[in-house]
Amino acid sequence: MINVTKTFLPDQEQYLKYVQGIWERGYLTNNGPLLQELEQQLKDYLGVNQLYFCTNGTIVLQIAIKALELGGEIITTPFSYCATSNAILWENCQPVFVDIDPKSFNINPELIEASITPKTSAILATHVYGNPCDVEAIESIATKHGLRVIYDAAHAFGVIYKNKSLLSYGDISTCSFHATKVFHTIEGGALISNLPELDGKLHLLRAFGHQGDEVYLYAGINGKNSEFHAAMGLCNLPHVKDIIKARSEIFDWYDQGLNWDFISRPTLAEGVEYNYAYYPVVFESETILKGVLEALKVEDIIPRRYFYPSLNTLEFMPDAASCPVSEDISLRVICLPLYVGLPQADVIRICNIINDYLSP
Ligand SMILES: *Cc1c(COP(=O)(O)O)cnc(C)c1O
Repeated sequence: MINVTKTFLPDQEQYLKYVQGIWERGYLTNNGPLLQELEQQLKDYLGVNQLYFCTNGTIVLQIAIKALELGGEIITTPFSYCATSNAILWENCQPVFVDIDPKSFNINPELIEASITPKTSAILATHVYGNPCDVEAIESIATKHGLRVIYDAAHAFGVIYKNKSLLSYGDISTCSFHATKVFHTIEGGALISNLPELDGKLHLLRAFGHQGDEVYLYAGINGKNSEFHAAMGLCNLPHVKDIIKARSEIFDWYDQGLNWDFISRPTLAEGVEYNYAYYPVVFESETILKGVLEALKVEDIIPRRYFYPSLNTLEFMPDAASCPVSEDISLRVICLPLYVGLPQADVIRICNIINDYLSP
């Protein structure tokens, strides 16, 4: 079977060496030495000052909302994974969906201001497929209206935008290090911020909100990650550059192999060094998409409908506005298999199946 993704696994011996160290120290979690080492290496790799390694890419969204003391309405994108808007709901805020740009599939900054009300506290946008949002436009809107900016950067690890890490934009960026992402720690995530006033607070919020046994400062949560997860990160981080390079080659094979008369894909922002996190293709209709999925399934090839459905259409979303572009794209987009080790012959086969279906 060829799945949409396959987890990168480092050298097993190397991982076991770290595990042996964990056994020797008998120290498994709570800001342990491997976790601290991973945080330092991630800060160096990304060129950021504040980074907190946490349990997953969802709890970090919740902690970000908590840390900025957001309430009321949060402007967000309907074209993301459900974790983005669920985190807003979970923190008792109201997601206000603003439609996406038809070229980048990121939140459309031109539509944001019309959705701002006196209750708006922040903009929470996703760098979809690792393609940068219009961070300049979003920043100027946020500054003008006194709003906070959080980026769900779950897809954006390793992306450079205008010569710095994409994760360094906004008040807080959140990352996911889930096994399906470009860089992973099995389960995991991170909070990244440049706001000096959040240093310390983010650290405490992910660990119950108290300092030692006597100083209780915040209603924190348990978002700490373990030494075992940190060890996986320490094994994987040195491979990230090669992982991104291997993904870029597969990306090129698709670019060359697919017949672009009948399909399209989102346009990457200018000035981006991309991480090749996903290979999305958009068909002319959902009927064609379903036909292509069927044709691939016969050959045991399983892409993913991602993102689908448009989040504003979920039953449990209160009073969600319609977002025609997101609703349309989400019906017609799939992400094709893309992972280290996917052979060129398989990519060519996938391209041929799709091309033959579209133009028999
Ligand atoms: C994967 C993902 C998340 C959730 O991350 P987890 O680590 O699985 O909790 C959130 N947002 C986006 C856009 C994602 O792709």
